[in-house]
Amino acid sequence: MITVAQEQHAILQAKQLQKLIEAVSSKGYEILGPTVRDGAIVYDRMESAEELPAGWTDEQEPGRYRLKRREDQAVFGYVVGPQSWKKYLHPAEVKLWAAERQGATFRILNNETKTKRPYAFLGVRACECAAIAIQDRVLLEDKYRDPIYQERRSRALVIAVQCTQAAATCFCASMGTGPRAKAGFDLALTELVSPGGHRFVVETGSKRGAEVLAELQTAPATDADCHEAEAAVDGAAAQQVRRLDTQGIKDLLYQNFEHPRWDNVAARCLTCANCTMVCPTCFCTAVEDVTDVTGNHAERWRRLDSCFTQSFSYIHGGSIRTSSKARYRQWMTHKLASWIDQFGTSGCVGCGRCITWCPVGIDITEEVRAIRGEENTHGKP
Ligand code: SF4
Ligand code: SF4
Repeated sequence: MITVAQEQHAILQAKQLQKLIEAVSSKGYEILGPTVRDGAIVYDRMESAEELPAGWTDEQEPGRYRLKRREDQAVFGYVVGPQSWKKYLHPAEVKLWAAERQGATFRILNNETKTKRPYAFLGVRACECAAIAIQDRVLLEDKYRDPIYQERRSRALVIAVQCTQAAATCFCASMGTGPRAKAGFDLALTELVSPGGHRFVVETGSKRGAEVLAELQTAPATDADCHEAEAAVDGAAAQQVRRLDTQGIKDLLYQNFEHPRWDNVAARCLTCANCTMVCPTCFCTAVEDVTDVTGNHAERWRRLDSCFTQSFSYIHGGSIRTSSKARYRQWMTHKLASWIDQFGTSGCVGCGRCITWCPVGIDITEEVRAIRGEENTHGKP
């Protein structure tokens, strides 16, 4: 059996994190990572390790998110915030092109969808690596390729950080997507704050990652370091109180279009679309043309859309999903059933964001349990 240490993991001291940022930046990447803003962990541009959320953690419940202080100075001691890397790879709005009137014709102006510098994502969780792989399948590996996503994704450097704690809303363990990131990263760090020191066990996932690591002052990880890291990630799996039973889920949902639970959830759902906006795999967009009042300048924008809006299913003459029941059923059935037919995987990675950021605390794991006819374990309707 190959132990983790034999795979030559390295130890990077926490105080060397700034050097990691500098090494990545010197290779031309724009660093994007977690920081504290407006009472949440959000992803943003960063130049210094001091901008990372040292000493912060998050508490999450259905419809509830709070930051609170940790007792240590762990830098990645939170779970996931409202944003995912979709913010950068598949942004909420993109100007596709603009046009200026020139006499009797229009001149098309260059689009601005290309990024100046490649992105380096720092702090990508296992469920987020899985979500990026799902969006790769949808936006790159299907019949049509999205050139905006492709340009951003193909150049991106992914620095994962393994989860060593879980939120009450996480259920990645039951989806097989976490809490350990096994693929889809260039480097993966496991943060340890223990008597052995504040340090990271670093695993290399690609040649690009190895090139960055080679520029840093590291030491070989010992077996004890690796076992401590493995135990910390196992602890995050053990902490998870939610799970989604995926056994036969496709047939279950296809056979239950008329289940009374859809009326129950419809009575609570506000059709606010929060769940689709925060979801790292939801990808639907709409295209909108706008002109200025003179009619001399026009723009075409692509914006994230949601199956929770009435206009989303508008076909000549009206919307085909006028009720919140039809929209919630569409969303959940697509996520967990028809996504499998379309793309070969579930559309859910168990990140729990749709549970935390639903203003009325609707919980996809509970909805599945109710349709299965199982007992509600979280005390919700
Ligand atoms: S459906 Fe909910 S739990 Fe699943 S990936 Fe989307 S936001 Fe995360
Ligand atoms: S399930 Fe919750 S987050 Fe999603 S649309 Fe309904 S109320 Fe909004």
